[in-house]
Amino acid sequence: MAYKNMIRAAISLYLLLGLSLLSVAYERNDMIRIGNLEVDPGKSKSGYLSVPEKDGISCFIPVTIINGSKKGKVLALVAGVHGYEYPPILALYQLKKKIDPQSLSGALILVHIANMHAFQKRIIYYNPDDWKNLNRVFPGNPQGSITQRIAHILTEEVIKKCDFLIDLHCGDGNEALIPYSYWMVNGDRKTDEISKKMVLAFGVKHIIIDKSRTKDIAHSKYLGNTAILHSKPAITTESGYLGKTDEESVIRNIKGILSVMKLFKMIEGEPEFVSHPVWIDHYEVIYSNLDGLFYPQTKMGYYVTKGERVGYIADYLGNVKEELRASFSGIVLYIINTPPINKGEPLFEVGRIKEK
Ligand SMILES: [Zn+2]
Repeated sequence: MAYKNMIRAAISLYLLLGLSLLSVAYERNDMIRIGNLEVDPGKSKSGYLSVPEKDGISCFIPVTIINGSKKGKVLALVAGVHGYEYPPILALYQLKKKIDPQSLSGALILVHIANMHAFQKRIIYYNPDDWKNLNRVFPGNPQGSITQRIAHILTEEVIKKCDFLIDLHCGDGNEALIPYSYWMVNGDRKTDEISKKMVLAFGVKHIIIDKSRTKDIAHSKYLGNTAILHSKPAITTESGYLGKTDEESVIRNIKGILSVMKLFKMIEGEPEFVSHPVWIDHYEVIYSNLDGLFYPQTKMGYYVTKGERVGYIADYLGNVKEELRASFSGIVLYIINTPPINKGEPLFEVGRIKEK
């Protein structure tokens, strides 16, 4: 009898220990609040962040919060900072259906279309209400124009509430662009290392090592840079081109996001790191000095050598006004592929491949 009691006691102790271990392993996630949306662990909710009205202009930002039942990290995914960049937008709507909050660890904040009026009006680069570029006005200003107010809401409600962020872009409606990502290095070793893992996990092989972003948190300019200056590791990705909605670009975005989620143990599986990254240690965006028509003479992904003619600008009467040449040898990351060009707008971006 004594022996049986001992076994019973041992079994109860084992069960007790086992259960307490389980409750540690499956610790419940916290409730998440973004704007007016409150999402309990194990639930998913979509709704709108509202950007308050000023001078008769307001807007809304559609978001989804998928709050995992298990504790973990919060990953923010932002699409539509530029409203004519479709594959990331489509990717997030697909992802929303794929992720089950019951089996998710941590949480996802999906910003479906950050720049709604640019999307609705099919406008490249700018918000048509104030003609500002959302990805140049961070951290934003609650008293500013609509684009500055959108940036402020994203800073307060998304950047400050996440642990990591991916700013998902692609070639705008006029940009022929190869897939590439920015690894923004700001000198903080821990943030830089995690961002590097994220960029490799995202799976796009051309990666710009970008040390050029400002460290001034009051004028952080870019969404991804703002996250990094708040010590939230972040990457900016580019996948898609020329306003297309091709499946390959959409899938590349989804695969990249799922791999980063695996990196952070939000879902099961191992991340698929880029096996042979092509690091780009210097890049240059060439801007137009003129209004007129741009004629590209090379293609996205082509290599150009220093001094090679990349394109030219003609005036509205058809006279060639300026020839553009590569200032160093490298790969054409993107090039404008539709005729209109305006002074101050980008023409092309060349990246120099880092020597091993
Ligand atoms: Zn963009």
